[in-house]
Amino acid sequence: MIELTEVTKVYPGGVNALGGVSLRIDPGELVAIVGPSGSGKSTMLNVLGTLDRPTSGTVRIDRYDVARLSDAGLSALRATRIGFVFQQFHLAAGVRAVDNVADGLLYSGLRLSVRRKRAAAALERVGLAHRLDHEPHELSGGERQRVAVARAVAGEPAVLLADEPTGALDSASGAGVMQLLRDLHAAGTTVVVITHDRDIASSLPRQIRMRDGVIVEEVHT
Ligand code: ADP
Ligand code: MG
Repeated sequence: MIELTEVTKVYPGGVNALGGVSLRIDPGELVAIVGPSGSGKSTMLNVLGTLDRPTSGTVRIDRYDVARLSDAGLSALRATRIGFVFQQFHLAAGVRAVDNVADGLLYSGLRLSVRRKRAAAALERVGLAHRLDHEPHELSGGERQRVAVARAVAGEPAVLLADEPTGALDSASGAGVMQLLRDLHAAGTTVVVITHDRDIASSLPRQIRMRDGVIVEEVHT
């Protein structure tokens, strides 16, 4: 489903963030990416999710060679196949939960009423049916992250990529968000999650350890 082959990423200024990473993630996997700060985890996730292009090497998603797609083609692939969740939620301030989620479906071309209906269903799926009309500042951190997860999965992407989704949450809320990711995985979504938390990582079936821009170890449990 996703395949990186000898991927490097050099940022302007000469930072070697990825030093030749090869990795295959199959449909239905639940994968943890772990490693110290600065080891290239976010860079790898962004390349996996086509938010960023590699400096060299190839990225394939659903057998499409990402380098051969135009920016518009890439946006379409991303919008229909991949959902993202970030540590800082990235919700629009002053916008109700249902519309934060519905806005994530803009690309679908569906009418607003249909997008809102799907958004409400996604919020129900993450346990927030009672929070549709709440704005982000009226929600707890854990609830905000649930809204962000609902937005990521409202379009039913095949893959969900999460970059430290529990990093800004207390441990109880974090555990709730992790359970939600497990539930989505159990329902068929491929899930890749970056985490600093060793307990979370060791509880997932596949762990990829990174250091200095390369994969140093893989554990399957
Ligand atoms: P991690 O997510 O594991 O903390 P990152 O992928 O964010 O690591 O960063 C890997 C390396 O690339 C670090 O040295 C970081 O400072 C550098 N880096 C990340 N993003 C950029 C950027 N946009 N421009 C320049 N350097 C960057
Ligand atoms: Mg990071």
